[in-house]
Amino acid sequence: MRKVSIFGATGSVGMSTLDLIQRDPGAFEVVALTAHSDVDGLAALARQFGARMAVIGDEARYDALKAALEGSGVIAAAGEGALVEAAEAGADWSMAAIVGCAGLRPTMAALKAGGTVALANKESLVSAGALMMDAVEHSGATLLPVDSEHNAIFQCLAGSRLEDVARIILTASGGPFRTRSREEMRDITPAQAVAHPNWSMGAKISVDSATMMNKGLELIEAAHLFPVGLDRIEILVHPQSIIHSMVEYRDRSTLAQLGSPDMRIPIASALAWPKRMETPCQPLNLAQAGRLDFEAPDEDRFPALRLARHTAEAGGAAPAILNAANEVAVAAFLKGAIGFLDIAMIVEDVLNRYSAPVPSGIDDVLEADAQARSMARHVMERLTA
Ligand code: NAD
Ligand code: MG
Repeated sequence: MRKVSIFGATGSVGMSTLDLIQRDPGAFEVVALTAHSDVDGLAALARQFGARMAVIGDEARYDALKAALEGSGVIAAAGEGALVEAAEAGADWSMAAIVGCAGLRPTMAALKAGGTVALANKESLVSAGALMMDAVEHSGATLLPVDSEHNAIFQCLAGSRLEDVARIILTASGGPFRTRSREEMRDITPAQAVAHPNWSMGAKISVDSATMMNKGLELIEAAHLFPVGLDRIEILVHPQSIIHSMVEYRDRSTLAQLGSPDMRIPIASALAWPKRMETPCQPLNLAQAGRLDFEAPDEDRFPALRLARHTAEAGGAAPAILNAANEVAVAAFLKGAIGFLDIAMIVEDVLNRYSAPVPSGIDDVLEADAQARSMARHVMERLTA
């Protein structure tokens, strides 16, 4: 029996993970499940899966969670400290699927505890990549990428040496506005932006896919997970999302990982690793797909790509600042407070105005994150005034 914990259990990735676990209940024991504010959703999952503990991020909802778990035997806890304790509660496999930099402390705690950590929470790696990779090295934790592209690269690298890699080719769907001009992007609504053509995902990452900031964050993520040098990581637009990424070796042999656009496939690969497990996912039907298309990314129409590459090159606190400003801007866009094109503009403005020293620990990262958030709010106030 594998002891598993799921951080962000009520979200898109968390629910997909539980869907796989539920199909083979004898193989897994659930230690901890967490959510931000959905007490009823979390309590129902904790009961269904017989979790040892349930943690709600929002401290004010502790009493509500305790009441909802009455008589279940599940331990209720709340707050960021409890999320960190849950990460140290003895799971041997954890899914890091909290969205945003809010996942950083629990993800770090899980890595320091030294088990296997399946990482969906890309923002934590973007903000604190060097520190996280250090933690992996020191604790002996196994970090398995769940982001479909990084999981694809991980699979294409199996058994090979990074020094033999000529190029990593990170594929991108291009999002719902791939063919639109800047002018046509101006009036995009939140509802249009979250409707991704291939993938069903949480709201934040769906907007990131639409601005292509998601691919920018993934570039930074890839540079930490697979340190071949930024100049060897290329982005290639592939609208069908069937090839999830590729690795070209120095002998010019290129390996690709293919599959239906269903997150349960990369999640299953991390859940069963190094073995394989059955999934209910659609097998690939290439005859039906008919063709696979490719095109170069356009940094003029999607400036988030340029901003992300610049911050990746700059390193230090720059990616944490990029990420924090983007989180604030995306949340404001989803609330209808700013326009679609304002998102990248705000991120760029914050990057121009604010820099921070190279972080030497998580507290430094979170300080840069907090400063960048307040700067982003300030920039937004001027924009909407
Ligand atoms: P989601 O919004 O559907 O779910 C987020 C989860 O995190 C929820 O359980 C929520 O309760 C929890 N959460 C949110 N804010 C929190 C906070 N402040 N403290 C504690 N918990 C909090 O998001 P998602 O689409 O499942 O994405 C999760 C992560 O996985 C993101 O980092 C995303 O970039 C990454 N990812 C998602 C997909 C996908 O298909 N959805 C694919 C690749 C990577
Ligand atoms: Mg991805």
